[in-house]
Amino acid sequence: MRPDMLNPLFAETRTLEGVGPKLEKPLERLGLTRVKDVAYHLPERFVSRRAIANLDEASPGEQVVVALTPVEHRSGPSPRAPYRVLAQDAVGNICALTYFGRASYSAKKQLPVGEKRWIAGKLDQFGQMLQIVHPDHIADESSAAMGQLVEPVYALSEGLTQPKIAGLAGQALARLPDLAEWIEPAVFAREGWPAWRAALQRAHQGDDAAARDRLAYDELLANQLALMLVRADNRKRKGQALQGDGSRRAKLQLPFPLTGAQARSIREIEGDMAQDAPMLRLLQGDVGAGKTVVALEAMLVAVEAGAQAALLAPTEILARQHYETIRRLAAPTGAQVALLTGRDKGRGRESILMGLLDGSIDIVVGTHAIFQDTVTYRNLALVVIDEQHRFGVSQRLMLTQKGKRAPHVLAMTATPIPRTLVLANHGEMDVSKLDEMPPGRKPIVTRVMALERLDEIVEGVARHLDTGQQAFWVCPMVQESEAADLAAAEARYAALKERFGDGVVLVHGQQKPEVKDAAMERFVRGEAKLMVATTVIEVGVDVPNATLVVIEQAEHFGLAQLHQLRGRVGRGSEQAVCLLLRGDKLSETAKRRLALMRETQDGFRIAEEDLELRGGGELLGTRQSGEEGFSVASLEQVQRLQQMAHDDARLLMDRDGGLSSERGEAARVLLYLFDRDFGVKTLRGG
Ligand code: ADP
Ligand code: MG
Repeated sequence: MRPDMLNPLFAETRTLEGVGPKLEKPLERLGLTRVKDVAYHLPERFVSRRAIANLDEASPGEQVVVALTPVEHRSGPSPRAPYRVLAQDAVGNICALTYFGRASYSAKKQLPVGEKRWIAGKLDQFGQMLQIVHPDHIADESSAAMGQLVEPVYALSEGLTQPKIAGLAGQALARLPDLAEWIEPAVFAREGWPAWRAALQRAHQGDDAAARDRLAYDELLANQLALMLVRADNRKRKGQALQGDGSRRAKLQLPFPLTGAQARSIREIEGDMAQDAPMLRLLQGDVGAGKTVVALEAMLVAVEAGAQAALLAPTEILARQHYETIRRLAAPTGAQVALLTGRDKGRGRESILMGLLDGSIDIVVGTHAIFQDTVTYRNLALVVIDEQHRFGVSQRLMLTQKGKRAPHVLAMTATPIPRTLVLANHGEMDVSKLDEMPPGRKPIVTRVMALERLDEIVEGVARHLDTGQQAFWVCPMVQESEAADLAAAEARYAALKERFGDGVVLVHGQQKPEVKDAAMERFVRGEAKLMVATTVIEVGVDVPNATLVVIEQAEHFGLAQLHQLRGRVGRGSEQAVCLLLRGDKLSETAKRRLALMRETQDGFRIAEEDLELRGGGELLGTRQSGEEGFSVASLEQVQRLQQMAHDDARLLMDRDGGLSSERGEAARVLLYLFDRDFGVKTLRGG
């Protein structure tokens, strides 16, 4: 149960004064549904203004506060034209206060002709005239608000204004209870951070690094604690110790010897599975490092021990491909392999469900459909999750804990995860690394070319296809509208089809699954030579004969994504080529990304640099850690504070794993505060 003192914070936003049905919508769009969300909606930045005596003291572009006296109201020639109030400063300069749309109504009321007002806003030049568009504040002389020269700027959505959201934040802050400190006293003292309530208040008032860090640290600490609690709970649960006798694995006829890294990872996994505490292991290996075989061996261990194994893939396409591979490789071992996705219906589905129930199916490959309530296993003992980063980690952990006996879990990811984020996302998971590529791989030749040279590039593709090898052509999803992106991909497809005839297929995320699969099939079988695709091919597709990948508008992709896309080729023994097509205007970061792609193929290095570039906040502004599951901590803060939060959480867990001490109680409050209460629920009295 949530502690009572948090109730005011978990109240809905409509309990704030001034929030009715009209304001609720825009707040919701920002993810602000509860009072606490509003309190944690921290300013993106602050403006500082200069108070000036007259307009001669400032230049266009500056944020100012100045006394002006309206002299004339001018509505435009049409209702859509701006509404202007001409106003005069102390020495006779004229400045236009300009309003668009409905904002002009308030201007009429707030700016009576002949009465002096204090105006705060950004000074602009409009033709010969100075202007302030939609002043931030208008007040008469007595107002204290004008004294405030530093002001927060919040992320807005349509229907909200800065003063409105600032007002709501103020109300939310006024409701903050005093909470007992959950941070380790030594850390708290050393960092010189403010207490929780003060930190939130200060973070809204000005650029306050200590306050911001403290709040970010809270979030990281909550995350670490939750992961540790789930892990501890997992350890307490009974799994089943699986001893494979090697009989099935001995029958495998792999066309290659395992790499040292593969053999080591398999040993580590086998060791875990032999314990009755459930395994929780992350297999990290770059694209093409050979994770599938490792997964297969692990699944065969389960089968040898008389149990079942499931492989969960993030997409239909990938599930299908895994199924084909696993079935083919496992055939000599006699293990029965089935595919189950959301699309299987009727008879076929019934018979698979039957097989899982009676144990005649040993290995099932599928999408999340394999975990639906209607699916019952005779004895599911191992779950392999491919492309782990696509799933919410904690949710997955909980999901696999549904049964009475917890299955062993092997999570696999091809995204080399930077160290700091491994900690953030996977907490206490054990890690096996495939840090050695199968032998004989030639480095992929990577070139950056201007899109202007399209004709030349298409002829290059033609020569490539003439050798009998295949190619990918990746179109980006970059624009605001998915429809426009799709249109661009379709246009490219049409153009390439014109040139190459029927040997071109199109694959994108909006296609009906049957259509998509049919196109994939044709490419995998080699009937189609060229696949035009949006980034749906990012994950997993394995066609060794595809040795060229063209990535259009490469500057719009992140590093990690480019790396994944490039990894679609270079899987066979032929020399592979990656062409990065770029537009003519590149930001500095985009240039660095493309240069790095040319320079290295080391996924771990790319991941670190990607984090650094994104941490710099260039792509979308300041907050880039959202996809890592954080809402307060920025990527930069994640990197800087993660380890500390981890150690702090560890210490607390070691001393008081049941969170029953005074500080433990405080930590429970913290978990609720950051919606990590699934951690608390693993505890008695939680
Ligand atoms: P990923 O780690 O990206 O899932 P895959 O398991 O799809 O990689 O393997 C990529 C390719 O490398 C496959 O064609 C696979 O057959 C091949 N492969 C895997 N292990 C080895 C090995 N030890 N030696 C040679 N080729 C291998
Ligand atoms: Mg794979």
